[in-house]
Amino acid sequence: MSFTYLNELPTPAQIKKDFPLSEELQLLKKERDAQISAVIRGESDRFLVIIGPCSADSEKPVMDYIHRLAKVNEQTKDRLIIIPRIYTNKPRTTGEGYKGIATQPDPEANPDMIAGLIAVRRLHLQAIEETGLSAADEMLYPENWDYVDDLLSYVAIGARSVEDQQHRLTVSGFDVASGMKNPTSGDFSVMLNSVFAAQHPHHFTHRGWEVDTSGNPLAHVILRGAVNKRGVAIPNYHYEDLIRLHEMYEKMDLLYPACIVDANHSNSSKKYQEQTRIVEEVLHNRSISPEIRQLVKGVMVESYIEPGSQKIGEHVYGKSITDPCLGWNETETLLYEIAEKA
Ligand code: PEP
Ligand code: MN
Repeated sequence: MSFTYLNELPTPAQIKKDFPLSEELQLLKKERDAQISAVIRGESDRFLVIIGPCSADSEKPVMDYIHRLAKVNEQTKDRLIIIPRIYTNKPRTTGEGYKGIATQPDPEANPDMIAGLIAVRRLHLQAIEETGLSAADEMLYPENWDYVDDLLSYVAIGARSVEDQQHRLTVSGFDVASGMKNPTSGDFSVMLNSVFAAQHPHHFTHRGWEVDTSGNPLAHVILRGAVNKRGVAIPNYHYEDLIRLHEMYEKMDLLYPACIVDANHSNSSKKYQEQTRIVEEVLHNRSISPEIRQLVKGVMVESYIEPGSQKIGEHVYGKSITDPCLGWNETETLLYEIAEKA
């Protein structure tokens, strides 16, 4: 029962110096952030699609996938803003299992946190350099923000972290759209309280510093479904859920009420093929309710090259080693459908 201090990690400044984002791409990233911000603020009616594998487990298939997304993005960019999921840190329900490329750059080898920090930065950098698509990631460890703060265009706080003070306070300093997921219990007030916290200024400690933050007006919610006390998945993407969220948002005096619907996780009960139907239902509800249209600014979809999932060690190219994902063919069809109906 003790800590063993193994290695001192490079600082964010050191890693950024070795893997810098060019000035030209800084401008491109800023422009994308502004476009996403306009959607959250209700100043643009484009629709956000945050899409990609549950975990970005390997550079080659992830980049292959993002190149495919970039082609669809070119065709749909007047209607959609496609934000690839490059999820480099995985929360684990019991603490066991693959924790993401940030911890294990090789999922079959021992953890290596220094190589992990480099792998995370390289992957996000490569996505912008090769496709112009700045990505989304989950900020599972808030102090890692400074390693990627110039690269991410969207941040999610996961269902298991959203009640945590350090996460909420850290989001209050982010300058990009940040989605606070409903907790696994499904409690909307916990989720909205986390948005309240993230939208306000705070004074706390971050990476060994006493800091002030300005508050993040772009903090909003992500509905990912819940699990009841018997372990049964309870979806929260239906019409009634969205209307209830709209009513609760109205009572809370928050800036820019906005919601992303995560079609996988407890909304699909991880039946990944259901994501298509779930997204279609959300688009339908947007088409019949002005309140829902205004509230739901996008969807989140778990998708990769091959459908489903595999165990670590099976080595199927482009197949998820964490949550099951839609395959590329269904994904491509779905993206064009969203562009048409959103
Ligand atoms: C995820 O997005 O892959 C994830 C782990 O989400 P959640 O926090 O909703 O379980
Ligand atoms: Mn997942």
